[in-house]
Amino acid sequence: MFALTGKVALVTGASRGIGRAIALSLARQGATVVAAARGDNAAEAVAAIVAAGGQAEAVSVDVTDSAALEALPGAIVAKHGRLDILVSNAGITRDQLLMRMKREDWDAVIATNLTATFTLAQAALRPMLKQRGGRIIAVSSVVGQMGNAGQTNYAASKAGLIGFAKALAREVASRSITVNVIAPGMIDTDMTRAISEKAQVDWSAQIPLGRLGSVDDIASAACFLASDEAAYITGHVLAVNGGMYM
Ligand code: NAP
Repeated sequence: MFALTGKVALVTGASRGIGRAIALSLARQGATVVAAARGDNAAEAVAAIVAAGGQAEAVSVDVTDSAALEALPGAIVAKHGRLDILVSNAGITRDQLLMRMKREDWDAVIATNLTATFTLAQAALRPMLKQRGGRIIAVSSVVGQMGNAGQTNYAASKAGLIGFAKALAREVASRSITVNVIAPGMIDTDMTRAISEKAQVDWSAQIPLGRLGSVDDIASAACFLASDEAAYITGHVLAVNGGMYM
């Protein structure tokens, strides 16, 4: 089940947290993974994949650099022959109540979390349309579905991904390309470790399954959506949140 042998995948934000786990899982299922992060930050994740017998390559890209991002899918096709799976995962928070939010913090979150997905999906579609197949997976958030005080920028970017994916799913379905969203709840990564302990406890109390999610909970969902078994699922928002929002 969920074999990805022969597929080529691009995962952004693959240096840490959810993106690293997705890169490892896709490689474990047989995909060749292009792991993207800034500088040489994805090198360790790639080393872990290669040590486990998988195939991976690290690329250095800042997802707010539109020109570099636009060129990336073409470069992957030139090197690996195809591009089957795009996981747009890189994301940031710049939390503040709206009345105090700086314009630059709004712009940075929208550029990283939403505009980068537009740029990458557009460039990835060229080979996918030619191949008449592909998987585009955007990593949104429960916050894009239910909102969260102090995160208007983040919530807008993550809700934007949901609308984007549903619209694009309709555009490319006739070419057997699916576009889906994973909406993680509260997952144990650097991003959540950055918030106060009290906030973490408050959030955990809202999770029916009684624990924070693990990065592997999200990676499993990504492997499924990337697989042939998920061929009839598109425009879907897969909540992986322990029941905190239903
Ligand atoms: P994380 O541990 O903070 O990792 C963020 C990743 O994004 C890193 O690999 C980072 O790469 C990359 N990134 C950030 N800005 C970038 C940029 N400008 N260019 C290239 N890469 C960039 O975060 P995470 O918790 O794994 O989150 C991954 C995704 O899941 C995000 O979209 C996040 O919004 C979403 N999410 C997380 C949670 C959660 O509870 N953790 C919940 C819902 C949704 P560098 O190493 O280069 O910085």
